[in-house]
Amino acid sequence: MGSIRLLTIRGIPIRIHITFPLILVWAAFQYGQGQADWVKGALFGVAFTLLLFIGVLLHELAHSLVALRFGARVREIVLFPLGGVAQMESLPEQPWQELLMALAGPATSAVVGGALGVLTLFFFPLRLWLGFFRALGTGLGLRWGYLLPYLAFTNLLLAGFNLIPAFPMDGGRVLRALLATAMPYGRATAIAVAVGQGLAWLLGLIGLLGGDVVLILVAFLVYTGASQEGRMVQMKLALAGLRVGQVFSRGVQAVSSNDPLGTAVDMMLGGFQADFPVCEEGRLVGLVTRADLLRALKEYGPNAPVGRVMRREFPTVTPEDDLFEVHERMTSAGLEAVPVVEEGQFLGLLTRQDLNEAYALVSVRPGLLRPRV
Ligand SMILES: [Zn+2]
Repeated sequence: MGSIRLLTIRGIPIRIHITFPLILVWAAFQYGQGQADWVKGALFGVAFTLLLFIGVLLHELAHSLVALRFGARVREIVLFPLGGVAQMESLPEQPWQELLMALAGPATSAVVGGALGVLTLFFFPLRLWLGFFRALGTGLGLRWGYLLPYLAFTNLLLAGFNLIPAFPMDGGRVLRALLATAMPYGRATAIAVAVGQGLAWLLGLIGLLGGDVVLILVAFLVYTGASQEGRMVQMKLALAGLRVGQVFSRGVQAVSSNDPLGTAVDMMLGGFQADFPVCEEGRLVGLVTRADLLRALKEYGPNAPVGRVMRREFPTVTPEDDLFEVHERMTSAGLEAVPVVEEGQFLGLLTRQDLNEAYALVSVRPGLLRPRV
């Protein structure tokens, strides 16, 4: 959603987010202003940023290819204005596999930066070094010849920055994996999350004292990234081994595709249900979520038939599916509920509320829902 596919490498779609051009505009402005020849500065900024993102892509590809090698699934790589993200559907099982996966990115950036650095030493005339360092510090007096050392420097910076031992940076994963060789995974995660949050506070404090807004923003991102990772792992451990069949809502009310939207609205107001399966003779043919219903009401009014606005493409799950994997899929698809189906027969809905209830129950009483493995 909101991104365009560029190409596919080893079955992994490489996508570019629609906001990506913003960084090019920013770079053109940032490198163009104050230059004697601002057009040349702006072009330098754009060319440098595009080449840097090839480095970012190589970094994310390295993570992804190692993950694939260990049997994990990679959904896609998305390039955002502030960096790339490799979306994993599952992670490698063993701590040492996660360690290698996490290290692959910074190692690739270091190799790319190092190789460009060596090229620079060969091809960059000695007399230009002073000018290069001045340009690096002030951003002024740019020449095309500086592109190579700029890229070498930034790729090395990328490697170093990502090794900071805090989630969501790679260093956070490295720290967790190292800890996990000596203690349970949940405890290792809790410690790595706490280290990340501590570093975020420190960064934020330095930013606040120095009046550096960007640093405060980075601190905020690091803090939320660390907390998110902690919550996700807690949820994963709590739901481990549980199946959809143990928690999903039976007795869900369905609508038919000929029913007017008003019927679904009455059901929504008169009960707890917010998402409605559309069934014909016990077979599931569509889904209307709360958001779909509100949007359709505004556009077509309460007399329009459900069949006109329902989704025909949506994920379904079976009672045997792993609860945590389904939770991941729902989160990434932005769905509050998924239909549960077995051999074509509609059984009920698995809602986010069901997941939260299961999590709450298992948190207070671990044996209450017995994992079935
Ligand atoms: Zn990385």
